[in-house]
Amino acid sequence: MFDITSLKELLAHPQKIVITTHHKPDGDAMGSSLGLYNYLVQQGHHATVIAPTDYPEFLSWMPGNGSVMIYTEQQAAAAELIANAALIFCLDFNALSRINDMGPLVGKSPAIKVMIDHHLEPEDFDDYRFWNINACATAQLIYQFIVEELNGKQYINADVATCLYTGIMTDSGSFRFPNTTADVHRTVANLIDAGAINWRIHELVYSNSSEERLRFLGHCLSEKLEVLPEFNTALITVTKAEIEQYHVITGDTEGIVNYALSITGIRLAAFIVERNDKVKLSLRSKGDFPANEICKKYFNGGGHRNAAGGASDDTLAQVIHQFKTILPEYKTLLIQ
Ligand code: 5GP
Ligand code: MN
Repeated sequence: MFDITSLKELLAHPQKIVITTHHKPDGDAMGSSLGLYNYLVQQGHHATVIAPTDYPEFLSWMPGNGSVMIYTEQQAAAAELIANAALIFCLDFNALSRINDMGPLVGKSPAIKVMIDHHLEPEDFDDYRFWNINACATAQLIYQFIVEELNGKQYINADVATCLYTGIMTDSGSFRFPNTTADVHRTVANLIDAGAINWRIHELVYSNSSEERLRFLGHCLSEKLEVLPEFNTALITVTKAEIEQYHVITGDTEGIVNYALSITGIRLAAFIVERNDKVKLSLRSKGDFPANEICKKYFNGGGHRNAAGGASDDTLAQVIHQFKTILPEYKTLLIQ
C-alpha cells in the first residue's frame, strides 16, 4: 500500500514530478498547481506544471507561471515528462477525462499518482488520495497537505501563499460561498501572514479585464439574459457569431453566469455558449439545488452542487430547448 509514509520517503529526495490539473484551468486549478510547484522546487525537486489547455490572462501572473507547460502547445515534451515522472500530482480533478488527451498518458505512466481534490465521485486511477468534498478549494487542501501531512509550514513562503490565496479566493467566490468556514479564514489569514498581498491579488484577478470583455458582458446582460420566473431560473446564451464579434478569448466568459444567479429569487442560472466543436454549459445554483445532477444526467458533465458544467454535441438551439424541457422535472426544488 502506498501511504503517507511512502510518499514522505519519496519526497525526501529530489524527484521528477509532474503537476497537472483540469482542462481550461480556473483560479483554483492554477493556484493549487503553482502553490504546490513553489513548495516542491524549494526542496530541490524537478517539478513541472502541465496544463492540458491554455488559461486566462488574469491567471497568468502567479509566481512560477513562466515555467508552466501547456500540453496542446508542447505535446511531445509534455508526454516525455509524464512518462518519466516518479510522481504525478493530479489537482482539482478526479477523472482522467478532465485532462483531455493527457488522460491516457497519465493513466499509463508508471509514476505514483497523487490525487488532491474536492469534487464528488473520484475515479480510481490514483495511488494516494487527499480528498475532501467539503474543502472550499483544492488550494485549501494543498495548504493542509503541506502543513499537516508533510509538516512543511516553514516552506509556505510568499510565492506559495500568493498562489494558494488565489485558489481559495476564486473557488470560494471571494470568501462568500457556504463552505468558506472559519477554518478557511484562518488559513487565509496564515497565507497573508506568509506574504500573500490580498488586495493586490484581488486586483490582478478581478480588475484585469479588457474593454472588449466588459462590452461583451454588457451585451450578455442587456440582450441575452432570459428570466423564467415560473422556474426561478435565468439563462444567458451566446452564439459562435457573438464570440467572434466581441473577440472573446479564454477566460472572458468566466463569471458571467453569476450575474444571472444574482437576480433576487433566482435559484438556478445557466450560461450556454456555442464553441467551435461543442456547446458548453455552466450552471450555478443557490441553496441545495443540485446543478451537478442536471449536468451529469443530461450534459455529460458534473461538478459541485452549486457550480457545475457540461457539454453537448447538439446545436445551440437544441441545447437551449433541452435545458428548458428539463426544468419542469425540478420545479418543486426550484420554487420552494
Ligand atoms: P464551469 O462552469 O466554471 O466550467 O465549471 C464549474 C464547475 O463544474 C467546476 O468545479 C468544474 O470542475 C465542474 N465542471 C465543469 N465542466 C465539467 C465537466 O464536463 N465534467 C465534470 N465532471 N465537471 C465539470
Ligand atoms: Mn476547485
